[in-house]
Amino acid sequence: MTEEEIIQRVGLWQKCDFVHPLTCGKDKCDGILVAKVNTDIDPYFDWGEPAVVLTCPKCKDYIQEHIPEVVFNINYEQFDIMSELIEEMKKRNKNG
Ligand SMILES: [Zn+2]
Repeated sequence: MTEEEIIQRVGLWQKCDFVHPLTCGKDKCDGILVAKVNTDIDPYFDWGEPAVVLTCPKCKDYIQEHIPEVVFNINYEQFDIMSELIEEMKKRNKNG
C-alpha cells in the first residue's frame, strides 16, 4: 500500500458515521487524528524513514505511529454501501 492509499483509508475511517474515529491520546484532548507522512510534518526531524503517522490537528502536539489494522481490514465496498445508506437516511429524515 502506498502512503497515499494509507492516508486515503484513514480518511475514510475518520469520516465514517458508524465506526469510532481514531482520537488523540492526550489527556482532555478529543481531537480527530489525521494521517500524514511524517516527513511532511517536520522535514528536518530524523524520522528514520518516511512513514504515515497520525497527528492531532487540535492540540498539534500528538503523534501516533501505530495505525490499527482494522482500518485496513475493513471491506471498503461494504463501507461505501453503508455510507450511501446513511446519507440516504439523513436526506429522508430532513425531508421528513
Ligand atoms: Zn490532541
